Amino acid sequence: MLNSKIIERDLSVLWHPCTQMKDHETLPLIPIRRAEGVWLEDFEGKRYIDAVSSWWVNLLGHANPRINAAIRDQLESLEHVILAGFSHEPVIELSERLIEMTPSYFTRCFYTDNGSAGIEAALKMSFHYWRNQGQAQKTKFMTLQDGYHGETLGALAVGDVALYKETYGPLLMETFTAPSPAGCYADEGESYEAYARRQFEEMAALLEKHANEIAAVIVEPLVQCAGGMRMYHPVYLRLLREACDNYNVHLIADEMAVGFGRTGTMFACEQANISADFLCLSKGLTGGYLPLAVVLTGEEIYQAFYDDYTSLKAFLHSHSYTANPLACRAALASLDILAEDNVIENNRKLAQVMAEATQSLRDHPHVGEVRQQGMILAIEMFKDKAKKEPYPWQERRGLRVYEYALEKGALLRPLGNVIYFMPPYVITPAQIRQLAEIAEEGINRATQD
Ligand SMILES: *Cc1c(COP(=O)(O)O)cnc(C)c1O
Repeated sequence: MLNSKIIERDLSVLWHPCTQMKDHETLPLIPIRRAEGVWLEDFEGKRYIDAVSSWWVNLLGHANPRINAAIRDQLESLEHVILAGFSHEPVIELSERLIEMTPSYFTRCFYTDNGSAGIEAALKMSFHYWRNQGQAQKTKFMTLQDGYHGETLGALAVGDVALYKETYGPLLMETFTAPSPAGCYADEGESYEAYARRQFEEMAALLEKHANEIAAVIVEPLVQCAGGMRMYHPVYLRLLREACDNYNVHLIADEMAVGFGRTGTMFACEQANISADFLCLSKGLTGGYLPLAVVLTGEEIYQAFYDDYTSLKAFLHSHSYTANPLACRAALASLDILAEDNVIENNRKLAQVMAEATQSLRDHPHVGEVRQQGMILAIEMFKDKAKKEPYPWQERRGLRVYEYALEKGALLRPLGNVIYFMPPYVITPAQIRQLAEIAEEGINRATQD
């Protein structure tokens, strides 16, 4: 079968996510017939390395035999059941495992069926906790510049990526936004740590002034992914944890993209040695197979909702596919592999290969920064490297890299002018080097005029 036939059918009935559909008048849509490991294969047999883990979800390769087997097995006994008033073993075991592998503070798991819905649940839970405690005036959230927490209205409101947010401004609740701690904005010669400490002063001042009306601070620990793979020093999380304790404000850690080994540790918060009050996980949770998200929290918060029904303190939030058993089994299989195969340990070597393979890009005349946190490596292109002057966004330089990479057999999907690798952990050193070569040549071409 030909790609063109499938593309034609697609473009006559679909509306794709995060896409100006008119782009597809010139930009080829890539229909995928099958996938295995890091490879995606189209209908004409052309293969692409999935360097972005299919939007950061895939951890252990496509068509992973062990995850496939777990889902098949689950399919034989129970595909789905309502989780209100009913339960099933996969969700119980998954909750036991998640509580076991996260800080001892966490004792409860609340599930939703996608990441944005998980953020909504965490925000509502924080607000509702304070309300149940007689502090109904805590209605606001504190967020970070360049943060991203999803696309539904509540999640969008606590994010700060103008491209996705600005249009919907009139629909969104107001938030406090603290300046970015990301080291890419540091002064010449200033370390990531010094910059994070300096930027925290504004966060501390905002908290001191407004703590009485703030329910929670929400952050992406260590790497602000959708905002451009912007990375910051863990000291910021330590200072933030202390301040949240001092001012009676919750800390929500959105580890949807960075959890499960992405940043070099199982969870990013480990690098700051802190625990949040709410930990939000999704994406890699099921190994990238099925939609599922979870909000973990502690006993004190749970107990604030635990009362007679007529007190009306319960958290009456639900989604149709809450904790789908197939998704839970995929998650359990993925956690098994992470533990049994020493994946986090092996990733250190792969991360080292990513660093070495992109070394020469650091000197590229249009690369302002190559930054890395574990299995995420990002390369930011600038018009003027010395002044860190960006290319006008209308020039869509990143898109040129995307198109060149597709031609060469790699799926690199830049965020604006930031090219990044966030590959499945089954990638080989040779494949990493191949990606780095493609990225370098793509950047050369995208910046030559
Ligand atoms: C992807 C993402 C979300 C939203 O998850 P969806 O499943 O896409 O709704 C929330 N927070 C972060 C940090 C993310 O990267």
